[in-house]
Amino acid sequence: MALAPTATLGPSLDLSPEHEMIRQTAREFAQKEIAPIAAHFDETGEFPAETIRKMGALGLMGIEIPEEYGGAGLDTLSYVLALEEICKADAAHGTIMSVNNSLFCYGVYRFGSEAQKQKHLRAVASGKAIGAYSLTEPMSGSDAGTMRSRAVREGDVYVINGRKSWVTSAPVAEYIVLFSMTDPDRQHRGITAFLIDTKLPGFVLGKKEPKLGIRASATSEIVFEDYRCPAECRLGEEGEGFKIAMSVLDAGRIGIASQALGIAEAAYEASLAYAREREAFGQKIGQFQGIGFKLADMKTRIEASRLLIYQAALAKQRSKETGSRFTLEACMAKLFASETAMFCAHAAVQIHGGLGYSKELPVERYFRDAKITEIYEGTSEIQRMVIARQELGIK
Ligand SMILES: Cc1cc2nc3c(=O)[nH]c(=O)nc-3n(C[C@H](O)[C@H](O)[C@H](O)COP(=O)(O)OP(=O)(O)OC[C@H]3O[C@@H](n4cnc5c(N)ncnc54)[C@H](O)[C@@H]3O)c2cc1C
Repeated sequence: MALAPTATLGPSLDLSPEHEMIRQTAREFAQKEIAPIAAHFDETGEFPAETIRKMGALGLMGIEIPEEYGGAGLDTLSYVLALEEICKADAAHGTIMSVNNSLFCYGVYRFGSEAQKQKHLRAVASGKAIGAYSLTEPMSGSDAGTMRSRAVREGDVYVINGRKSWVTSAPVAEYIVLFSMTDPDRQHRGITAFLIDTKLPGFVLGKKEPKLGIRASATSEIVFEDYRCPAECRLGEEGEGFKIAMSVLDAGRIGIASQALGIAEAAYEASLAYAREREAFGQKIGQFQGIGFKLADMKTRIEASRLLIYQAALAKQRSKETGSRFTLEACMAKLFASETAMFCAHAAVQIHGGLGYSKELPVERYFRDAKITEIYEGTSEIQRMVIARQELGIK
């Protein structure tokens, strides 16, 4: 029986000409506009507003959102290809892009009302405003059910109080998808999602988080002091927040896997070039088996990551028609790609010797940036826990 060709990948896993074009466009932009400024923004920790604005104009800030809501109307494979290229130039730009696309736009598109899509989604997907996602609190990260922030209904508003931590893009965001507790007795089933307008009174920026890597992405605490959120800005129903948070993280984890792949490839390509040129003991260092084996392991893990990411992207694309979950595919892609990024960045520093430790080359930045992919949007331990539960059939 002949196999029907898929809409997104050819029988030999080749990309379609349209996907190749998207990858090429993102690559050219990333190498021309982002790569030359990445070290400066890493050093200063400034937010790269100008390049993010240009990414919005290119359609990179709402890739999968239909054009009627301000997005580019492309598929999930286009998203992962573009994000990989941006992260190969600079993972911090990739963090901002990933949160905007997967954690804000996807959530509002999937769970928002028509009015919310017209107001909040259109602005963020078109790149005119920046979106953020706030689940974590100082005393609750992996275990979201213990969050302490409270949202109390008073007539047609919710009064929100509490402190949230580690909010990517918070200092520059216009809108934030916030998760807060409306019914503490029900723990994670008592969490509700809200669309926060950061211009309203009661929204206060907290301390800036001092970070090891992805330093150009702006990350801070946020504080709610009697913030009055109109009831029409509730995302989904009361008590649905945890379900929304986890569904959105499924999409986000595919983005973080793509970010990790971009970092791993950058580390690998720098190492390959260096191994071909640098000489020791009368030969190129790539001719030493100790270096060659490192390169072989890097390349193999990179290509395996790519396959897991494409599999997850296709599963997410299918879910748009069938409503099926893609949790397992997303977790496996994130787990393997993030550990690959760390493996490759570690090997890259070693292959470069002393120069790998120098700020004159980007290799040390790849090393610092890679680590975050094993932590945010669910640590590697949490990915393993979810994968095991899925396989064992544990709810
Ligand atoms: C740079 C950066 C940006 C971030 N951006 C955002 C953002 O935009 N929005 C947002 O909401 N959050 C964000 N986060 C928060 C991030 O998602 C959390 O840090 C992460 O989920 C881990 O939570 P935690 O830090 O509270 O660690 P904890 O949950 O306290 O975990 C500590 C350690 O215990 C392990 N652990 C916990 N539970 C288990 C378990 N059941 N089994 C085995 N091990 C376990 C963890 O894996 C980890 O190693 C960001 C974090 C960083 C560092």
